[in-house]
Amino acid sequence: MKILIVEDEPKTGSYLKQGLGEANFNVDLADNGLDGLHMALTDTYDLVILDVMLPGINGWQVLQGIRRRGLEMPVLFLTARDEVADRVKGLELGADDYLVKPFAFSELLARVRSLLRRGGKTKESEFLKAADLELDLIRRRVSRSGRKIELTAKEFSLLELLLRRQGEVLPRSLIASQVWDMNFDSDTNVIEVAIRRLRAKIDDDFDHKLIHTIRGMGYRLEVAE
Ligand code: CA
Repeated sequence: MKILIVEDEPKTGSYLKQGLGEANFNVDLADNGLDGLHMALTDTYDLVILDVMLPGINGWQVLQGIRRRGLEMPVLFLTARDEVADRVKGLELGADDYLVKPFAFSELLARVRSLLRRGGKTKESEFLKAADLELDLIRRRVSRSGRKIELTAKEFSLLELLLRRQGEVLPRSLIASQVWDMNFDSDTNVIEVAIRRLRAKIDDDFDHKLIHTIRGMGYRLEVAE
């Protein structure tokens, strides 16, 4: 799940980015309204966290731009101003929730999860599954046969990609661009290493292997017959 944060205060922005990253979300950060709106319209996000007072165009205008384009992902407003008038304005413009600064991170995380659960336009399932492996997109948890598995944020993204495209052979170049946001460099073995670590966690202790290497092509997650 991908979240866009539009926040001009560097401290708050990096605090949010780090916290949500540690909760296994993919997070992009924009520090002004124009960049934020541009990113919201050109990339695909499951949720947007918007500060109200921003340089360039403000949070209200970013929200208007998003809704005008017909995008229905949930939007959570962060505002230092807790006046009733602001809340009414935001609701009219199509905000889904508010958080008044300063806030506790746990509170933000709870709101984020609740908004993602309610869902925006994409009513996708909260879970991705393959055999007895289950990935919980909202709580960012993974289990196999009911046993909880700890993954790093990258491992989680990698597994999410493999599960979303179950049965397909995914070339290393595609994995590199989707999970690492980088162009494939044949000298790097970062993907092999990550696949090995992921296998150690989700496959090694189980008879039924899910991640398959397709020599010279890439990797495929598949539930064998
Ligand atoms: Ca601000």
